[in-house]
Amino acid sequence: MTPSIAEQSESGRGRRAFIGLGSNIGDRVAYLKAAVAAIPDVDAVSAVYETDPVGGPEQGMFLNLVARLQTELSAHELLDVCRQREAEAERTREVRWGPRSLDLDLLWIDGVTVDDPELTVPHPRMFERPFVLIPLNDVGADVVPDDFCPVDDGVRRVGVLSELEGP
Ligand code: ADP
Ligand code: MG
Repeated sequence: MTPSIAEQSESGRGRRAFIGLGSNIGDRVAYLKAAVAAIPDVDAVSAVYETDPVGGPEQGMFLNLVARLQTELSAHELLDVCRQREAEAERTREVRWGPRSLDLDLLWIDGVTVDDPELTVPHPRMFERPFVLIPLNDVGADVVPDDFCPVDDGVRRVGVLSELEGP
């Protein structure tokens, strides 16, 4: 549907925000597609990258991407969006106690910092994670530190989400 003039003129309102998504069990592509489709105000999506798990128990490889939003939602409203999407994926998880079907992290909101017991923005570990910074560079290169230089980072581009299929 073609947006009306009024909707177009409102499309620049709010702030840029970035959410990092990851999945490493079941139909990872389907989890990512369902989550991205249900996040409000998405205006760009990075490529999808397959990444080696960092930390935790031995587990399968992740698919990761970063979604960019242009949104008037608050930081805590965005955290609720992340939790809701995770809860929906948990309902269909295949492996009890297994690795995450879906993890959403609120990475960055332009001009906003939060540090309370529930939420820290910018995400405290985003700047040390190539599996965040490489997809973030696709849709928010200005947020990635200038000196970030991935070398042998275990992050491989697999394609564009809408064109991928299967686990
Ligand atoms: P991790 O993503 O580090 O593996 P979890 O997904 O289990 O850890 O952590 C989820 C909790 O982390 C959320 O319920 C939330 O309260 C807290 N949290 C703090 N800052 C953030 C953030 N920027 N994005 C998402 N969750 C956050
Ligand atoms: Mg998380």
